[in-house]
Amino acid sequence: MNTERSEHLFEQAKKSIPGGVNSPVRAFKAVGGNPLFISRAEGPYVFDEDGNRFIELINSWGPMVLGHNHPEVREAVIKAMEKGTSFGAPTAMEVEIAELIVNMVPSVEKVRMVNSGTEATMSAIRVARGYTGKEKFIKFEGNYHGHGDSFLIAAGSGAVTMGNPDSPGVTRGTAKDTLLAPYNDLDKVRLLVEANRDEIAAIILEPVAGNMGCVLPEPGFLEGLRKICDNEGIVLIFDEVMTGFRLAPGGAQELLGVTPDITTMGKIIGGGMPVGAYGGRKEIMEYVSPQGPVYQAGTLSGNPIAMAAGLAMLKHLSQNPAVYTRLENTGKTLVGGIQSTLERLGLPYTINALGSMYSLFFTDQKVRNFQDAQTCDTALFGQYFNSMLKQGIYLAPSQYESLFLSTALEQEHLDKILDANEVALKKL
Ligand SMILES: *Cc1c(COP(=O)(O)O)cnc(C)c1O
Repeated sequence: MNTERSEHLFEQAKKSIPGGVNSPVRAFKAVGGNPLFISRAEGPYVFDEDGNRFIELINSWGPMVLGHNHPEVREAVIKAMEKGTSFGAPTAMEVEIAELIVNMVPSVEKVRMVNSGTEATMSAIRVARGYTGKEKFIKFEGNYHGHGDSFLIAAGSGAVTMGNPDSPGVTRGTAKDTLLAPYNDLDKVRLLVEANRDEIAAIILEPVAGNMGCVLPEPGFLEGLRKICDNEGIVLIFDEVMTGFRLAPGGAQELLGVTPDITTMGKIIGGGMPVGAYGGRKEIMEYVSPQGPVYQAGTLSGNPIAMAAGLAMLKHLSQNPAVYTRLENTGKTLVGGIQSTLERLGLPYTINALGSMYSLFFTDQKVRNFQDAQTCDTALFGQYFNSMLKQGIYLAPSQYESLFLSTALEQEHLDKILDANEVALKKL
């Protein structure tokens, strides 16, 4: 595989961009090698600057659930462009997309558009604090909620009541209000709630985790959190930036039947444009300015081009329930195929999957939280990743990511992925 141009661009990029990339996960640091510079994408394929074509299972880290460059989204953007790129004033399209989101997502009665998932979660925590008058919140180890200061808190030393900053630049003052629990551990949550009675504004989590690899909530976990929140006057926030509009039209909350108070959204909601949103129960969302006292704003929020892309995407998803059956079947075929290869080769690795999300973990343990995920052999994953890449299959360049399937994958693509997978696994 010739990657000369990508290599050259990366050298050049490193001179003017920190690490050569505008978001760290793109850098291939976890798997060895240099990132590919992508020139275009179509359906299940991306094409790099050297003209190599890959079937890829990243789909822009989630948004491209209909495959790349979907004609309905593309046409909507081109049409919107002709009318101007930004007005800084309300538009009819914002009303339309808000109503659509309210109709699709069970917990959402009112919704505010922002520009990224990070903004959505930051704002959701602020509103939960404003609404409850409390300051602390609980997050789960290995769950990612964007790069807001208060979310960049790692597991660390098993601190029961206090988080440690995960990144230089996050102050201890900020970190002390973030409480940590292992995913799927209701007992730990109960302990935290008892130790911080009447101080906890919110519990935030990925209802199906995708940022420590794909990790499913165990039966009763989400229901248990719902109950704790109801009993203690805590706002339950589902971060559905990844799962929203993917696992079902109404996200994980629809699929799993547990309704949070606030939902954060991103990725698919913008059809590939930078969009996020947070929404929830009316009485909570009415705390948001200018209706209420909790300030939150955005010069380009609800941008007409971004809304056109998002609206085209959400319309397609709400009007075509067959999308979800197809994603489900694609997931079953692919994951089933990988599973039977593992069995045939006698390999002990673990697969977690739900619908169009899955991760192959290079560990023989069950993965139900971040600690389990960290038992993975990441060097082995790096070898697997690079072997797949050489065979034209582009996976997320980290063990700790979920892969995303799209409706653009046909049987021929799945066959290619499975063949490459068998070759790659045999070589490890
Ligand atoms: C991607 C992601 C975010 C952050 O969204 P950005 O648009 O990258 O800021 C937040 N939460 C979850 C669950 C995500 O997967």
